[in-house]
Amino acid sequence: MADFIKNYSLETALYVVATPIGNLDDITLRAINVLKSVDVIACEDTRNTCILLDKYGIDTKLISYHKFSESKKADLFLEYLGKGNSVALVSDAGTPLISDPGEVLVERVLNSGFRVVPICGACAVTTLLSSIPRRSEDFKFIGFISRNKNQIVDIVKNNKYENLIFYESPLRLLSTLETVAEIFPNKKVAIGRELTKKFEEIKTGNILEIIEYYKANTLKGEIVIMLYADTLSETVDISDKIGKLKTLGLKDKEISKIISALYDVNKNDVYKMCIE
Ligand code: SAM
Repeated sequence: MADFIKNYSLETALYVVATPIGNLDDITLRAINVLKSVDVIACEDTRNTCILLDKYGIDTKLISYHKFSESKKADLFLEYLGKGNSVALVSDAGTPLISDPGEVLVERVLNSGFRVVPICGACAVTTLLSSIPRRSEDFKFIGFISRNKNQIVDIVKNNKYENLIFYESPLRLLSTLETVAEIFPNKKVAIGRELTKKFEEIKTGNILEIIEYYKANTLKGEIVIMLYADTLSETVDISDKIGKLKTLGLKDKEISKIISALYDVNKNDVYKMCIE
Protein backbone atom coordinates (compact mmCIF):
# COMPACT_ATOMS: atom_id res chain seq x y z
CA MET A 1 0.00 0.00 0.00
CA ALA A 2 1.41 3.41 -0.97
CA ASP A 3 2.36 5.33 2.19
CA PHE A 4 -0.06 8.17 1.44
CA ILE A 5 -2.96 5.70 1.68
CA LYS A 6 -3.69 5.18 5.35
CA ASN A 7 -6.30 3.71 7.58
CA TYR A 8 -7.78 6.60 9.55
CA SER A 9 -9.01 6.18 13.04
CA LEU A 10 -12.42 7.75 12.56
CA GLU A 11 -14.84 9.18 15.06
CA THR A 12 -18.47 8.07 15.00
CA ALA A 13 -19.95 10.32 12.32
CA LEU A 14 -21.53 10.44 8.89
CA TYR A 15 -18.86 11.23 6.28
CA VAL A 16 -20.40 12.75 3.14
CA VAL A 17 -17.84 11.85 0.50
CA ALA A 18 -17.62 13.37 -2.99
CA THR A 19 -16.58 10.93 -5.73
CA PRO A 20 -15.53 11.57 -9.37
CA ILE A 21 -18.00 12.79 -12.03
CA GLY A 22 -16.28 10.79 -14.76
CA ASN A 23 -12.53 10.55 -14.48
CA LEU A 24 -11.85 8.08 -11.66
CA ASP A 25 -8.59 9.87 -10.80
CA ASP A 26 -10.60 12.87 -9.60
CA ILE A 27 -10.84 11.76 -5.98
CA THR A 28 -9.01 13.17 -2.98
CA LEU A 29 -6.62 11.15 -0.81
CA ARG A 30 -8.81 11.99 2.14
CA ALA A 31 -11.87 10.55 0.35
CA ILE A 32 -9.99 7.32 -0.42
CA ASN A 33 -8.77 7.01 3.17
CA VAL A 34 -12.20 7.71 4.63
CA LEU A 35 -13.88 5.18 2.31
CA LYS A 36 -11.22 2.66 3.32
CA SER A 37 -11.61 3.32 7.02
CA VAL A 38 -15.36 3.67 7.66
CA ASP A 39 -17.38 0.69 8.87
CA VAL A 40 -19.98 0.93 6.13
CA ILE A 41 -20.67 2.92 2.96
CA ALA A 42 -24.17 4.03 1.95
CA CYS A 43 -24.29 4.27 -1.84
CA GLU A 44 -26.91 4.66 -4.59
CA ASP A 45 -25.95 1.76 -6.83
CA THR A 46 -23.57 -0.80 -5.35
CA ARG A 47 -22.35 -1.88 -8.84
CA ASN A 48 -21.37 1.67 -9.65
CA THR A 49 -19.56 2.33 -6.37
CA CYS A 50 -17.79 -1.05 -6.63
CA ILE A 51 -16.00 0.14 -9.79
CA LEU A 52 -14.48 3.04 -7.83
CA LEU A 53 -13.67 0.97 -4.74
CA ASP A 54 -12.02 -1.77 -6.82
CA LYS A 55 -9.75 0.79 -8.47
CA TYR A 56 -8.44 1.87 -5.05
CA GLY A 57 -8.39 -1.60 -3.44
CA ILE A 58 -11.13 -0.75 -0.94
CA ASP A 59 -13.33 -3.56 0.37
CA THR A 60 -15.55 -1.72 2.84
CA LYS A 61 -19.10 -3.05 3.18
CA LEU A 62 -21.63 -1.35 0.86
CA ILE A 63 -25.33 -0.84 1.55
CA SER A 64 -27.59 0.69 -1.08
CA TYR A 65 -29.31 3.95 -0.24
CA HIS A 66 -31.42 5.79 -2.80
CA LYS A 67 -34.18 8.33 -2.80
CA PHE A 68 -36.94 5.69 -2.70
CA SER A 69 -35.58 4.10 0.45
CA GLU A 70 -34.12 7.16 2.19
CA SER A 71 -36.32 7.11 5.26
CA LYS A 72 -36.18 3.37 5.93
CA LYS A 73 -32.46 3.11 5.28
CA ALA A 74 -31.76 6.19 7.41
CA ASP A 75 -32.95 4.13 10.42
CA LEU A 76 -30.40 1.46 9.60
CA PHE A 77 -27.48 3.92 9.34
CA LEU A 78 -28.54 5.60 12.58
CA GLU A 79 -28.34 2.16 14.23
CA TYR A 80 -24.76 1.87 12.93
CA LEU A 81 -23.91 5.27 14.40
CA GLY A 82 -25.68 4.39 17.65
CA LYS A 83 -23.32 1.42 18.04
CA GLY A 84 -20.28 3.70 17.64
CA ASN A 85 -19.60 2.94 13.97
CA SER A 86 -18.62 5.38 11.25
CA VAL A 87 -20.68 5.66 8.06
CA ALA A 88 -19.83 7.17 4.66
CA LEU A 89 -22.38 8.43 2.18
CA VAL A 90 -21.54 8.55 -1.53
CA SER A 91 -23.67 9.04 -4.64
CA ASP A 92 -23.19 7.58 -8.10
CA ALA A 93 -21.14 10.60 -9.11
CA GLY A 94 -19.98 13.89 -7.65
CA THR A 95 -21.10 15.42 -4.40
CA PRO A 96 -23.96 13.78 -2.47
CA LEU A 97 -27.01 16.02 -1.88
CA ILE A 98 -26.24 18.05 -5.03
CA SER A 99 -29.22 16.76 -7.08
CA ASP A 100 -28.55 13.44 -5.35
CA PRO A 101 -30.05 11.69 -2.32
CA GLY A 102 -28.84 12.22 1.23
CA GLU A 103 -30.91 15.06 2.65
CA VAL A 104 -33.07 12.80 4.80
CA LEU A 105 -30.04 10.96 6.17
CA VAL A 106 -28.07 14.14 6.90
CA GLU A 107 -31.05 15.71 8.67
CA ARG A 108 -31.75 12.60 10.75
CA VAL A 109 -28.07 12.22 11.67
CA LEU A 110 -27.83 15.85 12.82
CA ASN A 111 -31.12 15.62 14.72
CA SER A 112 -29.78 12.55 16.51
CA GLY A 113 -26.76 14.53 17.72
CA PHE A 114 -24.08 12.96 15.50
CA ARG A 115 -21.60 14.91 13.42
CA VAL A 116 -21.76 15.17 9.61
CA VAL A 117 -18.30 15.53 8.09
CA PRO A 118 -18.05 16.79 4.48
CA ILE A 119 -15.26 15.25 2.38
CA CYS A 120 -15.27 17.64 -0.55
CA GLY A 121 -14.47 16.95 -4.18
CA ALA A 122 -15.93 16.86 -7.68
CA CYS A 123 -19.23 18.42 -8.65
CA ALA A 124 -20.46 19.14 -12.20
CA VAL A 125 -21.54 22.67 -11.26
CA THR A 126 -18.20 23.84 -9.90
CA THR A 127 -16.32 21.96 -12.63
CA LEU A 128 -18.15 23.96 -15.29
CA LEU A 129 -17.80 27.22 -13.36
CA SER A 130 -14.05 26.73 -13.06
CA SER A 131 -13.58 26.56 -16.80
CA ILE A 132 -15.73 29.33 -18.34
CA PRO A 133 -15.38 33.11 -18.28
CA ARG A 134 -17.90 34.95 -16.11
CA ARG A 135 -18.47 38.66 -15.75
CA SER A 136 -19.81 38.38 -12.21
CA GLU A 137 -18.93 36.10 -9.32
CA ASP A 138 -22.47 35.11 -8.36
CA PHE A 139 -24.55 32.29 -9.79
CA LYS A 140 -27.76 30.42 -9.01
CA PHE A 141 -27.96 26.62 -9.25
CA ILE A 142 -31.42 25.09 -9.55
CA GLY A 143 -30.66 21.36 -9.99
CA PHE A 144 -32.50 19.71 -12.90
CA ILE A 145 -34.65 22.23 -14.77
CA SER A 146 -38.36 21.56 -15.17
CA ARG A 147 -39.56 19.60 -18.21
CA ASN A 148 -42.58 21.87 -18.57
CA LYS A 149 -42.20 24.56 -21.23
CA ASN A 150 -44.24 27.21 -19.35
CA GLN A 151 -42.28 26.58 -16.18
CA ILE A 152 -38.97 26.85 -18.06
CA VAL A 153 -40.10 30.22 -19.44
CA ASP A 154 -41.07 31.44 -15.96
CA ILE A 155 -37.81 30.25 -14.40
CA VAL A 156 -35.68 31.92 -17.05
CA LYS A 157 -37.69 35.15 -17.01
CA ASN A 158 -37.54 35.35 -13.21
CA ASN A 159 -33.80 34.78 -13.21
CA LYS A 160 -32.71 36.75 -16.24
CA TYR A 161 -30.16 38.76 -14.24
CA GLU A 162 -28.62 35.67 -12.68
CA ASN A 163 -25.98 33.31 -14.02
CA LEU A 164 -28.44 30.42 -13.96
CA ILE A 165 -27.01 26.91 -13.80
CA PHE A 166 -28.92 23.68 -14.18
CA TYR A 167 -28.65 20.02 -15.13
CA GLU A 168 -30.40 18.71 -18.22
CA SER A 169 -30.67 15.44 -20.11
CA PRO A 170 -29.15 15.31 -23.63
CA LEU A 171 -32.59 14.19 -24.85
CA ARG A 172 -34.17 17.49 -23.78
CA LEU A 173 -31.26 19.91 -24.22
CA LEU A 174 -32.28 21.17 -27.67
CA SER A 175 -35.94 21.67 -26.82
CA THR A 176 -35.01 23.47 -23.57
CA LEU A 177 -32.58 25.77 -25.40
CA GLU A 178 -35.20 26.44 -28.10
CA THR A 179 -37.76 27.36 -25.43
CA VAL A 180 -35.28 29.81 -23.88
CA ALA A 181 -34.27 31.22 -27.28
CA GLU A 182 -37.90 32.06 -28.12
CA ILE A 183 -37.90 34.68 -25.37
CA PHE A 184 -34.17 35.44 -25.10
CA PRO A 185 -32.60 35.03 -28.55
CA ASN A 186 -29.51 36.95 -27.41
CA LYS A 187 -28.77 34.82 -24.34
CA LYS A 188 -25.19 33.75 -23.89
CA VAL A 189 -24.90 30.11 -22.87
CA ALA A 190 -22.20 27.78 -21.54
CA ILE A 191 -22.52 24.01 -21.94
CA GLY A 192 -20.32 21.48 -20.15
CA ARG A 193 -20.76 18.02 -21.65
CA GLU A 194 -19.07 14.85 -20.41
CA LEU A 195 -16.86 16.89 -18.08
CA THR A 196 -13.62 15.16 -17.03
CA LYS A 197 -14.34 12.29 -19.47
CA LYS A 198 -12.81 11.26 -22.80
CA PHE A 199 -15.24 13.28 -24.94
CA GLU A 200 -15.33 16.33 -22.70
CA GLU A 201 -16.67 19.41 -24.45
CA ILE A 202 -17.09 22.93 -23.08
CA LYS A 203 -18.82 25.43 -25.35
CA THR A 204 -19.85 29.01 -24.79
CA GLY A 205 -21.69 31.26 -27.22
CA ASN A 206 -24.95 32.78 -28.32
CA ILE A 207 -27.90 30.46 -27.71
CA LEU A 208 -28.93 30.34 -31.41
CA GLU A 209 -25.40 29.38 -32.46
CA ILE A 210 -25.26 26.70 -29.77
CA ILE A 211 -28.61 25.29 -30.95
CA GLU A 212 -27.30 25.11 -34.54
CA TYR A 213 -24.11 23.42 -33.33
CA TYR A 214 -25.99 20.71 -31.45
CA LYS A 215 -28.38 20.18 -34.34
CA ALA A 216 -25.37 19.36 -36.50
CA ASN A 217 -23.43 17.30 -33.93
CA THR A 218 -24.28 14.23 -31.89
CA LEU A 219 -25.67 15.09 -28.54
CA LYS A 220 -24.91 12.41 -25.98
CA GLY A 221 -23.63 12.22 -22.44
CA GLU A 222 -24.06 14.23 -19.28
CA ILE A 223 -24.71 17.93 -19.45
CA VAL A 224 -24.58 20.99 -17.23
CA ILE A 225 -25.72 24.37 -18.55
CA MET A 226 -25.27 27.97 -17.54
CA LEU A 227 -27.44 30.75 -18.97
CA TYR A 228 -25.43 33.93 -18.56
CA ALA A 229 -26.99 36.81 -16.67
CA ASP A 230 -28.30 39.57 -18.92
CA THR A 231 -26.49 42.84 -18.41
CA LEU A 232 -28.19 46.08 -17.47
CA SER A 233 -30.66 47.34 -20.06
CA GLU A 234 -28.89 49.19 -22.84
CA THR A 235 -31.91 51.31 -23.60
CA VAL A 236 -31.81 53.10 -20.25
CA ASP A 237 -28.86 55.22 -19.20
CA ILE A 238 -28.60 53.84 -15.67
CA SER A 239 -25.61 55.97 -14.64
CA ASP A 240 -27.54 59.08 -15.60
CA LYS A 241 -30.45 57.99 -13.38
CA ILE A 242 -28.08 57.18 -10.51
CA GLY A 243 -26.49 60.63 -10.83
CA LYS A 244 -29.91 62.34 -10.69
CA LEU A 245 -31.04 60.37 -7.64
CA LYS A 246 -27.73 61.08 -5.88
CA THR A 247 -28.27 64.81 -6.30
CA LEU A 248 -31.56 64.33 -4.40
CA GLY A 249 -29.51 63.00 -1.48
CA LEU A 250 -30.69 59.39 -1.70
CA LYS A 251 -28.46 56.61 -0.30
CA ASP A 252 -26.88 54.01 -2.64
CA LYS A 253 -29.11 51.25 -1.25
CA GLU A 254 -32.26 53.30 -1.83
CA ILE A 255 -31.14 54.22 -5.34
CA SER A 256 -30.48 50.60 -6.28
CA LYS A 257 -33.91 49.58 -4.95
CA ILE A 258 -35.70 52.29 -6.92
CA ILE A 259 -33.84 51.74 -10.20
CA SER A 260 -34.15 47.98 -10.01
CA ALA A 261 -37.93 48.28 -9.47
CA LEU A 262 -38.42 50.87 -12.21
CA TYR A 263 -36.25 49.35 -14.93
CA ASP A 264 -36.34 45.66 -14.00
CA VAL A 265 -32.57 45.48 -13.56
CA ASN A 266 -30.49 43.65 -10.99
CA LYS A 267 -30.33 45.54 -7.67
CA ASN A 268 -26.80 44.41 -6.87
CA ASP A 269 -25.52 45.53 -10.28
CA VAL A 270 -27.03 48.97 -9.74
CA TYR A 271 -25.52 49.11 -6.25
CA LYS A 272 -22.11 48.29 -7.70
CA MET A 273 -22.53 51.14 -10.19
CA CYS A 274 -23.56 53.48 -7.35
CA ILE A 275 -20.41 52.82 -5.33
CA GLU A 276 -18.18 52.95 -8.36
N1 SAM B 1 -24.07 14.97 -7.51
C1 SAM B 1 -23.69 15.29 -8.87
C2 SAM B 1 -22.74 16.49 -8.85
O1 SAM B 1 -22.12 16.72 -7.82
O2 SAM B 1 -22.59 17.15 -9.87
C3 SAM B 1 -24.90 15.50 -9.75
C4 SAM B 1 -25.80 14.31 -9.79
S1 SAM B 1 -27.16 14.49 -10.86
C5 SAM B 1 -28.11 13.09 -10.45
C6 SAM B 1 -26.51 13.98 -12.39
C7 SAM B 1 -26.47 15.11 -13.40
O3 SAM B 1 -25.32 15.92 -13.16
C8 SAM B 1 -26.30 14.63 -14.84
O4 SAM B 1 -27.54 14.26 -15.41
C9 SAM B 1 -25.71 15.86 -15.50
O5 SAM B 1 -26.70 16.81 -15.78
C10 SAM B 1 -24.78 16.37 -14.38
N2 SAM B 1 -23.45 15.77 -14.53
C11 SAM B 1 -22.92 14.76 -13.82
N3 SAM B 1 -21.69 14.43 -14.27
C12 SAM B 1 -21.44 15.27 -15.31
C13 SAM B 1 -20.36 15.42 -16.20
N4 SAM B 1 -19.29 14.62 -16.13
N5 SAM B 1 -20.44 16.37 -17.15
C14 SAM B 1 -21.52 17.18 -17.25
N6 SAM B 1 -22.58 17.08 -16.42
C15 SAM B 1 -22.55 16.13 -15.47
